[in-house]
Amino acid sequence: MATYLTVDLGGTKIATGFVTLDDAGQAAPVVEDLRSVPTEAPRGGDDILRRLAALVADRVRDRDGLAGVGIGSAGVVADGTIISSTDLIPGWTGQRVAETLAETTGLPVGMVNDVVAHGLGEAHHGAGRGHARVLSVGVGTGIGGAIIVDGRPVTGAHAVAGHIGHIAHGLGRGVRCSCGTLAGHIEPVASGTGLATLYNLMKDDAVAEVASGKDVSDLAAAGDAFATEVIARSARALGEALGGAVNLLDPDAVVVSGSVAGSGAPWWDALRAGFADGAMALTRTIPLLPGALGGAAPLVGAAVAAAQAVG
Ligand SMILES: [Zn+2]
Repeated sequence: MATYLTVDLGGTKIATGFVTLDDAGQAAPVVEDLRSVPTEAPRGGDDILRRLAALVADRVRDRDGLAGVGIGSAGVVADGTIISSTDLIPGWTGQRVAETLAETTGLPVGMVNDVVAHGLGEAHHGAGRGHARVLSVGVGTGIGGAIIVDGRPVTGAHAVAGHIGHIAHGLGRGVRCSCGTLAGHIEPVASGTGLATLYNLMKDDAVAEVASGKDVSDLAAAGDAFATEVIARSARALGEALGGAVNLLDPDAVVVSGSVAGSGAPWWDALRAGFADGAMALTRTIPLLPGALGGAAPLVGAAVAAAQAVG
């Protein structure tokens, strides 16, 4: 057994907690003593890193015998440094996070992107457990992904591998993606935000606009046929994209998590139907599994990253 201080740093909050992993992999991870503070992203990267280091130092003092620190962070992460970040966190690009935390704590630090942390958690201790090659897909405000092979993330030549929200699908053509393109990416029509976008694009003028994907889910749950149709279209398109992704990667399992994935059977049925159409005969049998760790996945995955940094 080894316990790690773990951090999940996003655009709105910095979540921390202690995670104990069973080295033999038998017992489930224990996540405890969660504490969150606002990221206060507009204060900028230097300020965030200063406050993060103080928070981590404070938390490390709370607990004896920690084996390391694990962090999953928003932004593209390479060698413990943020090499690219959206405007959501100004000045986060270039921050040498892992080095700073190692100096502050004197402990080994493992750092990955937050979506990769989620995937590591699910692959090692969640729905992907026992599968050697896992494609992890998170469908929430945006769509993120991670490829985990033999327990390690595959990050690619530019540390961006796994960005499954930014693969092509015709349903997204003409809809602005968070990456800027109008060419037709899957994220702007299949994320939670994308569900609302698609609803507002497809609706008759007489129908009121919705503000969020949850609005669409709520309407569908109340029996609204048009909202149900929008969810089916959106999820089917994502399923087709996942079919293409498994044809390329041929994983043992696909783990699908996030708020939209929690929206119920109609979404999953359409996802599976699109997947069956998009996948080849041999990849069609790859299981699409709902995530098992929920909100704990990024912290569990950060602990895995820490354990891998320890060696
Ligand atoms: Zn994109």
